[in-house]
Amino acid sequence: MNTVLQKAVGQAQSLSREERIALLSWDNDAELFAAAYAVKMAQTGPRVSLRGLVELGNYCAKDCLYCGIRKSNRELERYLIEADEALRMARWCYERGYGSVVLQSGEIESPAHTAYVERIIRGIREFAGDSFGITLCLGEQEEDVYSRWLEAGAHRYLLRIETSNPRLYAAIHPPGHSFQRRLECLQSLKRLGYQTGSGVMCGLPGQSLEDLADDIGFFADMDLDMIGMGPWLPHPDAPLSKGMKLSAEQNAAQLRLGLKMIAVTRLFLHDVNIAATTALQALDGRGREQGLQAGANVLMPNVTDVQYRKNYQLYENKPCLDENSEKCRNCLSQRVLSIGEQVSWGERGDPLHFHKRIVDSKAN
Ligand code: SAH
Repeated sequence: MNTVLQKAVGQAQSLSREERIALLSWDNDAELFAAAYAVKMAQTGPRVSLRGLVELGNYCAKDCLYCGIRKSNRELERYLIEADEALRMARWCYERGYGSVVLQSGEIESPAHTAYVERIIRGIREFAGDSFGITLCLGEQEEDVYSRWLEAGAHRYLLRIETSNPRLYAAIHPPGHSFQRRLECLQSLKRLGYQTGSGVMCGLPGQSLEDLADDIGFFADMDLDMIGMGPWLPHPDAPLSKGMKLSAEQNAAQLRLGLKMIAVTRLFLHDVNIAATTALQALDGRGREQGLQAGANVLMPNVTDVQYRKNYQLYENKPCLDENSEKCRNCLSQRVLSIGEQVSWGERGDPLHFHKRIVDSKAN
């Protein structure tokens, strides 16, 4: 396996599908993570980019079978943060040197929602100028909506494909949720010029290591700039996990799989941004640090006011539910320092891959 690792460290996209599967099932985590970490060091050095996450609202038109804020879940209070309130949270990120903000919500397609988001984006650009990153994570939309938000000043978009296997996609979504449309949305985002991110959940019921190896192939084929992945976690009110509780061993296995996916993705795609997601932290207090040590280079601390957080539980045990943003900020920089890395305060943290993509397209 060492020659495979050496090859992967030496050259991006050099692993075959079989080699990706072999690495995902390899039991030497320490060596796998060390090789992925070496690739990250060569690309970005020991630096972590931050994006403050504002969870704008939990109204959702979708009914994804795994998700805690799915439309049919009546066990939570629905909210939408006022635009001015959202602007206050984004300004807090800007003033505290977070470098960029992510606006996330359930999926709503309506003229009112489009205008609401546009107003927030324009408001952020007014106080922050261009040096501050604005990422959107607002689900499937028509291309003209994506275009309006880009025009208003957003420049990154995250839309997870959830799984690149259309059959598994159909198994974890109700009828009417279209894999094809999600794919087309990703293509629209790229066409429009967004820095585009996607990702998957790892350890879904019925998902194989072959599926995960193919997911990594999908990221490469889509020429993505950013990857956000995390272990699937049961939610008590979601049909995919109804009544299901993972044992301590199963939790550990989910965390491990999430970390291995980060590592193999980093070994395959050297220059993309990879987030160490909150789902890792839900499984282990040091899950995000472990994500950074397995090759991730981005953290997305929650900056939503604490009063809203209990109603944005996509899965059980979502961490930091009652920890205010100031406390999160201090805790986070300590955590980053504890593994010998530093936060890139005040930097947008654009993915290296995006710059190369743009330079290449200009050269051709
Ligand atoms: N509706 C928006 C925002 C989604 S929430 C969109 O589609 O982009 C962000 C991510 O949370 C989802 O893409 C999904 O991958 C993840 N998620 C939802 N439920 C989850 C669960 N039970 N376990 C782990 N991750 C989950």
